[in-house]
Amino acid sequence: MAAVCQLSLFDTVPVVIHRLEARRVRSQPARVCVGRFLHLGAGVQSSTLAEMIVEGDLAPVDAVVFADTKDEPPWVYEQLDYLEGRLATRGIPLERVARSAQGLVHDAIHGAGRFASMPLYTQDPRTGQTGILRRQCTSEYKIEPSDDWVRDWLVAHGHARLIHDKRGWTRRQVSRQVCTEHLYGISLDEFYRSGKRGPGWQRTVYPLIDRRMRRSDCERWLRERGLRVPYKSSCVHCPFHDDAYWRRLKTDYPAYFERACQFDDWLRSPEGRRRFTRKLRQDVFLHRSGIPLREVDFEAPGAGPLFELCGDYCMT
Ligand code: SF4
Repeated sequence: MAAVCQLSLFDTVPVVIHRLEARRVRSQPARVCVGRFLHLGAGVQSSTLAEMIVEGDLAPVDAVVFADTKDEPPWVYEQLDYLEGRLATRGIPLERVARSAQGLVHDAIHGAGRFASMPLYTQDPRTGQTGILRRQCTSEYKIEPSDDWVRDWLVAHGHARLIHDKRGWTRRQVSRQVCTEHLYGISLDEFYRSGKRGPGWQRTVYPLIDRRMRRSDCERWLRERGLRVPYKSSCVHCPFHDDAYWRRLKTDYPAYFERACQFDDWLRSPEGRRRFTRKLRQDVFLHRSGIPLREVDFEAPGAGPLFELCGDYCMT
């Protein structure tokens, strides 16, 4: 009897991703890989990759890069300190990069000029219709500082040069002969977040997808070795949080929950409206219900996330 093919979407997607990436790489001039970097969010998946490197289960990297929005919860910084020590045993530096010294929310409230839009929920006060704002914070506070750091690394290692353009700005031009490898902690259950990232000289690698590992597999992998299993990483004020996250923050980290509530209140204050939503003519909220965060009942049924996007969401 003919064998029945039982390949699932989870089995075929990594193959398709590989083929697309291989075709893309083939179509480009041959480049020598001169650096390999892990982009760390300090949540479950990217921490698993860091631990795999430490345990010798994954080829080493030149550096682990963490883009700090300065708005992360305390458990993320604890995880970073822990991983920094673990990686140091293999001589691998953990580099913390940041777009600004004060952070995403401080810049939104006090910064000069335009600030990076967060994916805030909107509500039309007349119709009650809800929506969500375009997200720029990932790009400006996570991706760009990381790319900048890698470009500086390439300059320092003689693989890129500083050039001055007509406007007098200094740019770092990467040699056409080289490329760098970039590891991201995207697991098989999040394959829709994979794909080519970054400029042409960057090669994207998804070791967890290659190994067909889901988030639960990562947790099991860590537990079996007696290693820490971290909680979700993402900004304290991120609108993508589900109610379980907000409830945990409110119960276990009330000072941080209060900070999030104050920002949420500020968004609808006269100053917040003047600075942020003047042209929008809509109210904006951190919680998708369109209710001020401090008034949300996180125990109420059906108050789940609008998108299952949060948690180690940005980049990693
Ligand atoms: S975690 Fe959320 S708020 Fe923070 S940078 Fe990412 S999308 Fe923006």
